[in-house]
Amino acid sequence: MVTPSDRAVAPPALPTASARAPSARPQDWIAPRAHGARHGARASELERVYGQIEDGARISREEALLLHEHADLGELMRLADLVRARLHPQGWVTYIVDRNLNPTNVCITDCGFCAFYRRPKAEGAYTLSREEIDAKLDELAAIGGRQVLMQGGHHPYIKSDWWCELVAHMRVKYPDINPHALSAPELDHFSRIEKRPVEDVLRDLKAAGLGSVPGAGAEILTERVRKIIAPKKTSTERWLDVHRKVHESGLRSSATMMFGHVETAAERIEHLGVLRDLQDETGGFTAFASWNMQPEGVPEEHLYPEKTTPAVYVRVQSIARIFLDNFANMQTSYVTQGLKLAQASLRFGCNDFGGTMMEENVVSAAGCFHLAPIERLEHQIRRAGFVPLRRNSWYGIVDERFTEPQRGPQSREDGATHRAWTAKPAKGGRA
Ligand code: SF4
Repeated sequence: MVTPSDRAVAPPALPTASARAPSARPQDWIAPRAHGARHGARASELERVYGQIEDGARISREEALLLHEHADLGELMRLADLVRARLHPQGWVTYIVDRNLNPTNVCITDCGFCAFYRRPKAEGAYTLSREEIDAKLDELAAIGGRQVLMQGGHHPYIKSDWWCELVAHMRVKYPDINPHALSAPELDHFSRIEKRPVEDVLRDLKAAGLGSVPGAGAEILTERVRKIIAPKKTSTERWLDVHRKVHESGLRSSATMMFGHVETAAERIEHLGVLRDLQDETGGFTAFASWNMQPEGVPEEHLYPEKTTPAVYVRVQSIARIFLDNFANMQTSYVTQGLKLAQASLRFGCNDFGGTMMEENVVSAAGCFHLAPIERLEHQIRRAGFVPLRRNSWYGIVDERFTEPQRGPQSREDGATHRAWTAKPAKGGRA
């Protein structure tokens, strides 16, 4: 049997994209037993790392892996909550009134874990008209929405000029709704099909009104994993470089991780490591969110293990909160985890409840769908002992109930330069 420690050292021999077979299904990750690390050298080492976190020092990749593999979940919860409270001592939990909008599901990238996309001309393939998009934006404007999260497939013929027209139109007709749109792989796709640098693509989109960039398409940022689950998709290096260019262009972006498929524990930590390195360099990430893979009904379902358990989700999210000391915000994922687990995750380091969404088409295509009305989100936040507040895409407060003068960034430009609400790297420690 493959134990977590085995997998940390030696990745399972999974097939390449060209040689996949049902028998290649990997072992699921097994949570460590707390009592296994209460005595001996490992327990001492864990105690040392716990103290380091309590002192506010940065932990290394090796120390994060030690926590992932051997730390007691209760200890992780305590430490993640401590780090959250240091960064957000006011006891607020933010969320944004937004909606998801997927203008097209046509895609030529064929990720085996994606139940959302359709090949061009396949049954169910769609591209929304401007009228259909406006009807959705009208609904969002009617409830005071502040953001539309727009992502689609890698359409072979829709280029960045189509998106420039859309966001320019939005800027005029829906000035209060920020277009939070186009993941790094989509921006990279435009760069490739238009044969021009991604900096030029970004310049045009920003001039048209793009306000911020979502962190989707990261999955696990190691090449071994990407070659298995998404061999045609943007590489690790390119994903990071597109976000670097996004930050250099004066836009902010978020960062994500989809785990619980073919990756090892060490690869989860490596993913967090490259995000932290880039954040040290640019300071341009607003937040981090993770979720586990939803394997039901995806094209290569036979390759994937059972969905990971809630214990694994809170373990990963806790380690992310502790390790990503230069990220101000940790977002829970109630759409994939459900309201109750999302509520619990507020004590595992999360300080943001994400978006209200109104619709969801990607994970719901894989049978996972937990949307809830705004009142219920606020109720869950209050019941966890926090004060719910509405925010914008740059994590500034836009809530009428909020009476304090410091509201954080209120615009795209403000968000690009505002440092007061960005976490400073913790002192000391090795990278
Ligand atoms: S995850 Fe994105 S890029 Fe991959 S197939 Fe789905 S829509 Fe296309």
